Amino acid sequence: MDGVIVNRKVLVADAIDRSAVDLLEKAGFRVDLRPGISAEELESVIGGYDVLLVRGRTKVTAKVIERGVPVLKVVGRAGVGLDNVDLEAAARHGVKVLNTPESSTESVAELVIGLMIAVARKIAWCDRQVRGGRWPKSEAMGVELAGKTLGVVGYGRIGRRVAEIAYAMGMKIVAYDVIPIPEEVLAKAGAKLTSLEEVLRTADIITLHVPLTPETRHLINASKLEMMKPGAIIINASRGEVIDEEALYTALKNGRIAGAGLDVFEKEPPTGSKLLELDNVVLTPHIGAQTLEAQEAAATMLAKKVIEAFASTSS
Ligand code: NAD
Repeated sequence: MDGVIVNRKVLVADAIDRSAVDLLEKAGFRVDLRPGISAEELESVIGGYDVLLVRGRTKVTAKVIERGVPVLKVVGRAGVGLDNVDLEAAARHGVKVLNTPESSTESVAELVIGLMIAVARKIAWCDRQVRGGRWPKSEAMGVELAGKTLGVVGYGRIGRRVAEIAYAMGMKIVAYDVIPIPEEVLAKAGAKLTSLEEVLRTADIITLHVPLTPETRHLINASKLEMMKPGAIIINASRGEVIDEEALYTALKNGRIAGAGLDVFEKEPPTGSKLLELDNVVLTPHIGAQTLEAQEAAATMLAKKVIEAFASTSS
């Protein structure tokens, strides 16, 4: 390993899988573990570190970055979203920002399949009934996924993986994206790329995999829900704000939409949300990437990217 890495210091400010620390130490970095460090403490110590590693908890504000430079060179986020990093401030001060968007694809895709089955077979509702001493077999009538059409909105990393698994389960796939998707990628899931309107009108289950942008905020609103097949199911493991929750509540309440599986919410946790009152909704606490494998992959990928960043600047 490049000997120049010897005096570099890394501050780990969130609970990041141990594999990152092992890799960095092996490469010659000195790593300080301070998961749970307060914002004030972070601001006072950051000036002594070349690298700051976080997950979603720590807010890497402009102030943190200003206090960090000139020693601070790299901010690494184990995971996808960079909402907690002030990217503009980082760019202004020449601080490189690294993340690992590839690390959670499989875990999120599997959760989405789980939510689809949970909603289609009323698994969470049945669990509540049986625990309450009831045995409501006839009301628990569900639907199969095989033979149904899955509409994938956003055909990136996660969207395509969901499509591939669903295709293997016998589903037909229709997809919508704003960028062209190569034929060979679509072929892996027998997917047909079409307009958003056609996806909404033809799919039995819609799953959302777009990033949150000004264009995707409330992409699914009352009029889009109205386009969906009566009795359709909607799954969201992208970002809560992609759905207008008020409109979704109304569509679920009046039965226009049969059910929803939600891992993300407009406000997290969704305390006081009317969605919590509904039986035909399965809710999870933003656990898409919450698997041992995804956390380890995020840590390992991030550590490798940090090592690479210093290796390339010091050679
Ligand atoms: P990605 O960048 O690989 O794919 C996103 C796709 O959406 C791209 O193909 C892009 O062209 C498309 N897109 C962008 N704007 C669009 C629009 N207006 N209409 C249609 N398509 C549009 O991202 P990914 O890794 O697949 O992640 C997808 C989403 O999942 C993101 O919102 C991400 O934040 C979220 N996510 C959630 C969890 C979780 O814990 N639930 C974990 C990881 C990622």
